[in-house]
Amino acid sequence: NKPPCECNNCYTGKDCSFLLPDCPVDANSGDPLFLEPFWMRKAEKSSVLVSGWHRMSYLYQDGTYVSEELEKVIRKLHSVVGNAVTDNRFVIFGSGSTQLLAAAAHALSLTNSSYSSPTRLLASVPFYAMYKEQAEFFNSRYLKFEGDASVWKKSKGNDNITQVIEVVTSPNNPDGKLKRAVLDGPNVRTIHDYAYYWPYFSPITVPADEDLSLFSLSKATGHAGSRFGWGLVKDKAVYEKMKRYIQLSSLGVSRTTQLYVLQLLKVVVSDGGDEIFHFGYETLKKRWDTLNKIFSMSTRFSLQRIKPEYCNYFKKVRDFTPSYAWVKCERSADTNCYEIFREAKITGRDGKVFGSEGSFVRLSLIRSQDDFDHLIDMLKKLVSHEVVGA
Ligand code: PMP
Repeated sequence: NKPPCECNNCYTGKDCSFLLPDCPVDANSGDPLFLEPFWMRKAEKSSVLVSGWHRMSYLYQDGTYVSEELEKVIRKLHSVVGNAVTDNRFVIFGSGSTQLLAAAAHALSLTNSSYSSPTRLLASVPFYAMYKEQAEFFNSRYLKFEGDASVWKKSKGNDNITQVIEVVTSPNNPDGKLKRAVLDGPNVRTIHDYAYYWPYFSPITVPADEDLSLFSLSKATGHAGSRFGWGLVKDKAVYEKMKRYIQLSSLGVSRTTQLYVLQLLKVVVSDGGDEIFHFGYETLKKRWDTLNKIFSMSTRFSLQRIKPEYCNYFKKVRDFTPSYAWVKCERSADTNCYEIFREAKITGRDGKVFGSEGSFVRLSLIRSQDDFDHLIDMLKKLVSHEVVGA
């Protein structure tokens, strides 16, 4: 049984089943509620009871801020999914991968030996806006956001002096493509953001084996509100600098959260991830099939295309089923795609937010089934109003 709910904006009635006519649909945030039905089925197994006198200290008995058991189950999760190598890696926890992104950018910017010029932070367009926003907000004298990695490569191809950090998001937010670093050289460090490298969204093609990889509980199990992420770090000095950042910003991650995450991940790995990954993938596959059908009737709008690849987890060639539709408005006059969708009562995220063009808009596909169904209703209306050749 669904717990008593607060109706979201567009629904009303006793059981929130009545959709208000012409209510705008929220396709903006990447709230991963598509996994809620799985966790409803695991209501008992996934629950934890915490008494008031439990876990009151800052530290665990071994004097650290991290649960050894949780670290073990995270290594196990990567080994069953095959999405990352954990041997010879330090594991670090953060309040979401958001905190770890800041910790990683901080740690790698300090590897600049002279500090004469700040380390440049780059990502290739389209990129997740948080990288830019954090760098600009924290405004460290050791770090400066520089924009698109490909543009930098063209203009500074032979510059092996300036220290740079490239953030590689794979699969990428917003377009879902598997990405590789654009830059290389002795002065280049990378942060690999693997938030979406799970079988729901993408074929698992190789285990990630990078210097610094970040993962997020938000997209691994769908528990975005628990604010938990982890990093796999090769270099001890970098790990120590990240640890110091976490220590000074929050004295570690909530022990209650760590206990809860341990319970959730135990449920996930108990059958090798079979149930949750199949459920999540099938859900998104159905959503993508529906979406592709609608967009195939349109000449005005198009979706990203990614060739299927072999997935080591499902042991078959499979489609990409990204979290987001990266929609292009194809008509040259349609320079504000976000606005076109907004007028059609679909709130997405403007392509410009990702360093891209206004002719793109991102639509979230990982929200609840109600949100998705509502999105589909509105998209059908928008596409059916299309006047061919207008
Ligand atoms: N990286 C990417 C690419 C993301 O899209 C997000 C959030 N949607 C994050 C990191 C942050 O995730 P978290 O909730 O773990 O802070």
